Amino acid sequence: MNKNLLYRSIPKVDVLLESQTIQEMIERYSRDSVMEAIRAEMDNLRAFIGGCDEEDKAQEQIALLVSHIGDAVEKMHTPNMKKVINGTGTILHTNLGRAPISREHMKKAFDIVTGYSNLEYNLEEGRRGERYSHFEKLLCKITGAEAAMAVNNNASSVLLILSSLAKGGEVIVSRGELIEIGGKFRIPDVMTQSGATLVEVGTTNKTHVSDYEENITEETKALLKVHTSNYKIVGFTESVGIDELMPIAKEHGIPVIEDLGSGVLIDLSKYGLTYEPTVQESVAKGADVVCFSGDKLFGGPQAGIIVGKKKYIDMMKKNQLTRALRIDKFTAAALELVLQEYLSEEQAVQHIPVLRMITEPLDEVARRARSLARTIRSTDLPAKVDVVSCESQIGGGSLPMERIPSMAVAIHPKHESVAALEDQMRHLTVPMIPRTVNDTIMLDVRTVETEDFKLIAAELQELLGQEK
Ligand SMILES: *Cc1c(COP(=O)(O)O)cnc(C)c1O
Repeated sequence: MNKNLLYRSIPKVDVLLESQTIQEMIERYSRDSVMEAIRAEMDNLRAFIGGCDEEDKAQEQIALLVSHIGDAVEKMHTPNMKKVINGTGTILHTNLGRAPISREHMKKAFDIVTGYSNLEYNLEEGRRGERYSHFEKLLCKITGAEAAMAVNNNASSVLLILSSLAKGGEVIVSRGELIEIGGKFRIPDVMTQSGATLVEVGTTNKTHVSDYEENITEETKALLKVHTSNYKIVGFTESVGIDELMPIAKEHGIPVIEDLGSGVLIDLSKYGLTYEPTVQESVAKGADVVCFSGDKLFGGPQAGIIVGKKKYIDMMKKNQLTRALRIDKFTAAALELVLQEYLSEEQAVQHIPVLRMITEPLDEVARRARSLARTIRSTDLPAKVDVVSCESQIGGGSLPMERIPSMAVAIHPKHESVAALEDQMRHLTVPMIPRTVNDTIMLDVRTVETEDFKLIAAELQELLGQEK
């Protein structure tokens, strides 16, 4: 085969540019994008011919050049980040964006973020305002704290708190609470970053009040409690509660800081879950500063929410780091909307997606699972579709032992392997991330919205229907 001849049969750029299809692409996207795609696809084609020893295949690729350019330009202009269907049953899936925000809240935030807003403007007085003002009162009202603010995420909260209150001094932490959360966030490392020195006390399984007491020195700036969100030590254990720490902290005039991780504001045990200490409880017990994530069990946007005594919150607001860690208008708007739901627990449980999913009764999940199965079956898929029991989990490093009984739709494809189908599901226009257990593809309905059922059925039909 004559490769030179093949190379020469690749259309020249100026010829391509005259073709109607390419002209249309330029009109729709831009000349620059199309030129970039042409160059990239030409390079690909030459490389393909170079490594190919079947003339037919090379000719075929040459014939497909324009169509490949079209695909490349389209890809350039299609956002890579997209909606996915979470069929895993993990409610706070860190890889899938953690807490979903409700459509209603986004609709309300739409005008704020697409135009100008009073983010840092006091409309009453016609002068500069504070971005925390929109939700600080609400946070105080709901948690019982004196003051509040929010930063980029809870890792930032811990950094800011330690830097503001303990830089250059020592902070005492129990050895049972020196945690690592996903993404290499380690309490000892954050401590180093903040400029405070960590003083470890107690042992992995047991820490007593006396361990804190005996290690307080002139240099001690704070006592830190960290909620061991993502693991549990069981058996012969003892840890010291905020109420026990308060008297010794007061005696030495130092603050008690609590990193709660998840930020639960309602009593989850009412809904059949293990009791998780609430933010209100920490505040009531006297903790001087409490921080938690905005997008874990709180169910809001990514944020680090900090509540506590005004004196300490003011120190944080004045810290230079705050400017680097500050929240933007999307977050400020969403935080206020989610917090308003917490004014009534009933509302919160209905309107905050994370809480709604966690508390959805099993019979309701079962009813929705049957409905999804019916919708999928109505498309005549070459697959067996069953409704099966399963267990959802909270995820996001929250309540690691908790399993919530749930129902899933199991799909057994007739003509292809589970692995192949799972791979194809990830490549759909709206990708589906299922859970695969015992070689079965399952969609745990607890984390799937009813309004997506039709889409799921249509997409599955598109995938499997062609195989018939
Ligand atoms: C999750 C968690 C963090 C980090 O929160 P992000 O909002 O993910 O930054 C910090 N501390 C504890 C105890 C956590 O559980």
